[in-house]
Amino acid sequence: MGMRIGHGYDVHRFEEGRKLILCGVEIPNDENIGLLGHSDADVAVHALMDAMLGAMALPDIGRLFPDNKEEFKGISSILLLKRVNELIKEKGARLSNADITIIAEKPKLMKYIEQMRQTVAEALGVPETDIGVKATTEEGLGIAGRGIAAHAVVLMEN
Ligand code: MG
Repeated sequence: MGMRIGHGYDVHRFEEGRKLILCGVEIPNDENIGLLGHSDADVAVHALMDAMLGAMALPDIGRLFPDNKEEFKGISSILLLKRVNELIKEKGARLSNADITIIAEKPKLMKYIEQMRQTVAEALGVPETDIGVKATTEEGLGIAGRGIAAHAVVLMEN
């Protein structure tokens, strides 16, 4: 198999009164906004899972964890990530490294980045040095004022 690259992308819109969870970390904010979704709407972990699955040419998370299934309602995306990791291990592969970019105009995420890296690394059983997480805005020009988007790029290896 050698090395395989994968990319994942996801967007969720803001919803008042929901928890904001990114890379498994709850981000408190003054506006009391979270993201709308069937699961916990962790847009960053969704992008990461799709990148890992995509690298392996496996079905994406929409097919693995359909949003009309009661069993996935409100589920922690970190739990789903662990399942994806198991699936990939069964295929004889493992994550070499991941690079996650979160695109959000608000709230400020900087002070949570290290905790996010830690949480994802722990879920995947890899060192923190294999997980990059960064946050950026769209300078008010894009969709990120209305929700949060995330990209993930991964390298998988035997
Ligand atoms: Mg999603």
